[in-house]
Amino acid sequence: MSTLRFHAIKESLANRPILVEEKERRSDIFGKNVFNENSMRQYLTKDAFKGVMNAVKHGKKIDRNIADQVASSMRDWALSKGVTHYTHWFQPLTGATAEKHDAFFETIGDNASVEKFGGSQLVQQEPDASSFPSGGIRNTFEARGYTAWDPTSPAFIYGKTLCIPTIFVAYTGEALDYKTPLLRALQAIDSAATEVCKYFDKNVRKVTSSLGWEQEYFLIDKALVASRQDITLTGRTLLGHSSAKGQQLDDHYFGSIPNRALNFMRDLEVECMYLGIPVKTRHNEVAPNQFELAPIYEEANLAVDHNSLLMDVMGRVASRHNFKVLLHEKPFAGVNGSGKHNNWSLSTDTGINLLGPGKTPMSNLQFLTFFVNTIKAVHDNEELLRATIASAGNDHRLGANEAPPAIISVFIGEQLTKVLEDLEGVTKGKLSPEEKTDLKLNVIGKIPDVLLDNTDRNRTSPFAFTGNKFEFRAVGSQANCANPMTVLNTIVAKQLKDFKVEVDALIVDKDLKKDEAIFNILREYIKGLKNILFEGNGYSEAWEKEAKKRGLSNNKTTPEALKAKISKKTIALFEEMEVMSKIEMEARYEVEMEDYINHVQIESRVLGDIARNHVVPTAVKYQNILIDNVRGLKDIFEGSYKKLAKEQLVLIEEISIHIESINANVTKMTNERKKANGMQDIEEKANAYCFNVKPLFDDIRYNCDKLELLVDDEIWPLTKYRELMFTR
Ligand code: ADP
Ligand code: MG
Repeated sequence: MSTLRFHAIKESLANRPILVEEKERRSDIFGKNVFNENSMRQYLTKDAFKGVMNAVKHGKKIDRNIADQVASSMRDWALSKGVTHYTHWFQPLTGATAEKHDAFFETIGDNASVEKFGGSQLVQQEPDASSFPSGGIRNTFEARGYTAWDPTSPAFIYGKTLCIPTIFVAYTGEALDYKTPLLRALQAIDSAATEVCKYFDKNVRKVTSSLGWEQEYFLIDKALVASRQDITLTGRTLLGHSSAKGQQLDDHYFGSIPNRALNFMRDLEVECMYLGIPVKTRHNEVAPNQFELAPIYEEANLAVDHNSLLMDVMGRVASRHNFKVLLHEKPFAGVNGSGKHNNWSLSTDTGINLLGPGKTPMSNLQFLTFFVNTIKAVHDNEELLRATIASAGNDHRLGANEAPPAIISVFIGEQLTKVLEDLEGVTKGKLSPEEKTDLKLNVIGKIPDVLLDNTDRNRTSPFAFTGNKFEFRAVGSQANCANPMTVLNTIVAKQLKDFKVEVDALIVDKDLKKDEAIFNILREYIKGLKNILFEGNGYSEAWEKEAKKRGLSNNKTTPEALKAKISKKTIALFEEMEVMSKIEMEARYEVEMEDYINHVQIESRVLGDIARNHVVPTAVKYQNILIDNVRGLKDIFEGSYKKLAKEQLVLIEEISIHIESINANVTKMTNERKKANGMQDIEEKANAYCFNVKPLFDDIRYNCDKLELLVDDEIWPLTKYRELMFTR
């Protein structure tokens, strides 16, 4: 009997729900462990409070004296909650979060000690961070990088540690993390959008980008995961025959949440409440044991931090409930994978959502301005947007006929399509009073009504307008949202900047009124947007053909997709918007290519090991049982044994054929890997992994999965799909 598998099953069946009782109201515990405005008011002097708020709201620098005050108040607040350590909390390019704890405790001579935390420790640290990926920016012999406080994301307590959100940059100033470019992109969109807002309302001083992510995940019993080295080491199953029942019956989606999972969710939500993560929605997803969680949307930088923190918290809470959270984009073949929808919008400090229609014609023209400019930004940069969601894991989703395709298109619904068509007919140059009235009443005036019943939702679209926001649906479930959010905000910022120049030119040179100028520019934009707008089924083959005709990119693999990140156009764009320099872009490209190579390399090694050292020996063992059986039959029945042993003989042969194929392909894969590992050029190497190594996975898997169906269940070593996905 295969010990590990059956032990694991036994253990998992014994796992009962770990009941979570909530004694306090959620609104009472929300943000309790966050050094937020409330706690700051309580702990900071008036001056210090004002200093921090100025930094948060207006990006002002915090002077040293204030930083000292903030630090000592933070310390007092943290100590009052039993905290012993502090850490700069940051998001290096590994994709995970990083922290290095230091105790507040310090000795001051004569056997005396105190709890200390000064402004200098709050503001800047120099972790020995030489092992984080830097894409060659930081050679290890000058491994200096430092973390610096980001006051726009409040400090929080996790466990017994005070965590201070920080950026992570090289000593020479280049960004080594996700947060730094994101902050620069948010700055860029703020400036560009605020300028455009002034056409409509002179009082707008600031535009904030919002993000509401939806996080999909699988919840699998911990013991079962531990019995599978592929899930443990790569986050996904590299083989395994699909279960007789999968998601065909659609009986999991929105179904009643299994008790063990529900208790995990409550526990997680309570943790989130303390951390100020405003989680709101939870439900079953389509695949068995797949779930989703979504918060109320927040300012993008905070939302990104909260999502990174959440992914970490999820793992820890799951452990208490004997679960493992799988965030991989495609943990199981044959059922849906997981994504992370990024709902994005822009809002003003006057309280207007720029992507939500308003009540007056003018506010609707403002909505249309931002709406059309966003679509144009996506149109002009579709390949770059695709690059921001590229990863080894997401390659299994994009274009795999379940998630959005690798082709970026925008869905806006029938009614807004009609609005754009109407706008296309606007007269060139000056508008007659009649035309203006008509536009205001019948085109833009109708928008709020239009949106009210705009219920058509196209789930196959990677970038969809959903009433008051755009939803970027192709983001991978393990991804750091900062990456797509940085790019989306940057391209829209650039577009708005160009738009402003063009409108101003019409006002000055052609003597047009502001609204006339805007109508004129929007009309020209709309004419050129046809290629990116698509309302049909994004999973269909017909769309792939159509998209090709339209000249849209369809980069199915990460090495192909990532190239757009270092194109001349992208680098010029990022340098112009001051979001990233050429050095930073190229470094990131290298880090992401390395990451891709490493993932495929690890998967290939694990697959080779499981196939050769687990599957093949088991198949041989079973084959020997059959051979013994045939021999026995021959002994007893002599001449007539062949008829009696007919099925066994067929099986013995079939098993041999599969074994032969597995061995041959594993050998081939190992050789391809060796060749790839010898390559110096990163693009060549990534391509070798992508096009020479990875395709061999399929054949190896196919033959292993066939053996799973042939070999006696009692001796099969790998926990099966039905066990992984249906144990609750
Ligand atoms: P679904 O896409 O599953 O139907 P919803 O469309 O209701 O769900 O939205 C889910 C997510 O969208 C939530 O995270 C929510 O906070 C976010 N969201 C809602 N409005 C906005 C907005 N104006 N800007 C950004 N995110 C938003
Ligand atoms: Mg959604």
